[in-house]
Amino acid sequence: DVAMYTAKRAGRGRYAVYAPELDGSARDAGLRRAIETGRMVLHYQPEYALADGRMTAIEALVRWDHPTHGLLMPEDFIDLADETGAITQLGDWVLRTACRDALHFPCRVAVNVSARQLAQPNLVTSVARVLNETGLPGSRLTLELAEAALLPTDQHLRARLEGLRALGITLVVDDFGVGHAALNVLRRMPVSSVKLHGSLTVGVHTDPVTHDLAAALVAAGHAIGLTVVAEAAEHEEQLSTLRKMGCDRAQGFALCPPLAHDQLTERLAATAKT
Ligand code: C2E
Ligand code: MG
Ligand code: MG
Ligand code: MG
Repeated sequence: DVAMYTAKRAGRGRYAVYAPELDGSARDAGLRRAIETGRMVLHYQPEYALADGRMTAIEALVRWDHPTHGLLMPEDFIDLADETGAITQLGDWVLRTACRDALHFPCRVAVNVSARQLAQPNLVTSVARVLNETGLPGSRLTLELAEAALLPTDQHLRARLEGLRALGITLVVDDFGVGHAALNVLRRMPVSSVKLHGSLTVGVHTDPVTHDLAAALVAAGHAIGLTVVAEAAEHEEQLSTLRKMGCDRAQGFALCPPLAHDQLTERLAATAKT
């Protein structure tokens, strides 16, 4: 967990600089203004099939390019956006930008959706509108759903997920294995993959318990017909261990870090030539 912890702390450090002088409503106003004035940026990180190295998706990860505090990471502002409702505006911007950029991608684009976003009654309509306006086919879009968003109490959730599926969109459960989503709930949901939480990758090659737990989750995912993706792979040994246990796909610094759109385009062009 050390690497994860370090990565998270880097974000928090900036947040600590940024937060104390402002109360919640001032920070919310700052966030909304940042969205309106184009201070939000998407970085992109590919994910690959472990069997043959094929690129299977490119995930959009939002950052806030703050004029005085530098590049703020999602940990610094997503929870605030979720609490104040600014996530609707932010989510719409992220989806629209990612879909537009993805017109040039050689694979699907994956966009993260928080529990609060998934609870919006008009989610399907607004996603459909973005697909229409950008011209991206739904079959080129994946939505990564927060595990907490799949609590079985919401009766309308299933209909909303079916509505997204009907647009051709692929659904993935993100950060799987540390939260609440039960396998017998998941098997009835129209999702096609689970993305294991990064903390399961960190010790997969060194800690026998983590190894067996990850292997069990890979097997369980397969048992209910899902593709299993690992995130936060920083070392070659993690990749080979994950490959051996039958994990289908992986993402992480060992393969490719999150990159600005231009950098990713350059990298894709370079790898296409070799
Ligand atoms: P996530 O969707 O699970 O994204 C994976 C996180 O792991 C990203 O952090 C990514 O930069 C980081 N990561 C990638 N490779 C490695 C690695 O090898 N090692 C380690 N330690 N970390 C790695 P990031 O960009 O800080 O995003 C954090 C979370 O914020 C995301 O977790 C996602 O839940 C949320 N998020 C990001 N963008 C959006 C967005 O547009 N909308 C919403 N609702 N949530 C977002
Ligand atoms: Mg994700
Ligand atoms: Mg994740
Ligand atoms: Mg995460």
